[in-house]
Amino acid sequence: TQFTDFGLAQPVLRALDEAGYQSPTPIQAQAIPPAMQGRDLCGIAQTGTGKTAAFALPILHRLSLSDRRAPRRGCRVLVLSPTRELANQIAESFSDYGRHLPYTNTVVFGGVTIGRQERALAPGVDILVATPGRLIDLVDRRSLTLEGVEILVLDEADQMLDLGFIHALKRIVRMLPAKRQSLFFSATMPKNIAGLAEQYLTDPVQVAV
Ligand code: AMP
Repeated sequence: TQFTDFGLAQPVLRALDEAGYQSPTPIQAQAIPPAMQGRDLCGIAQTGTGKTAAFALPILHRLSLSDRRAPRRGCRVLVLSPTRELANQIAESFSDYGRHLPYTNTVVFGGVTIGRQERALAPGVDILVATPGRLIDLVDRRSLTLEGVEILVLDEADQMLDLGFIHALKRIVRMLPAKRQSLFFSATMPKNIAGLAEQYLTDPVQVAV
């Protein structure tokens, strides 16, 4: 399989070429086609397998299919990540793969002052990468609305539960539009994580590497 086989938007392919990516990793080969079609996804994959691109590439492609705009104080894509470090990495990946596309991204996490994050969100952003606690704070302060979310990504779901984010996670998902695409990734799939996936995903494609 080659990236050109997927029918990804040209600006995405150009960024991959510039990044020197030759061919998709196994998780990318499995996840990209169904995610491009708008299917929900349940992926078991560790960091280092290329899973960030496995969701970022089809998301950028899908954003480019419609000229919808993020609402004020809102976003079109919400990526939830357990840690600040991972959130930053994900946002960087979106910037890299999306360098020839006009989409904005921002990252929010706790432990730093909230004002700058509120100002970044005010006009709306296409892609928001967030840790769950700070996201809830921003919603409670009316600095963020989740009503425009078209695509949800839960990354490292097992780590999110280990860090005690289950209540935040459930509150966040309740605020999202029912009609959305959801992409769920976890390094492990114990019963509680599988239960969460079953609750949040509609007819998901299962991928594992
Ligand atoms: P991730 O598992 O998303 O953290 O990605 C691990 C590393 O692999 C990152 O540094 C990516 O830039 C790199 N990577 C992802 N996909 C590919 C690919 N298809 N070809 C070469 N490198 C890749």
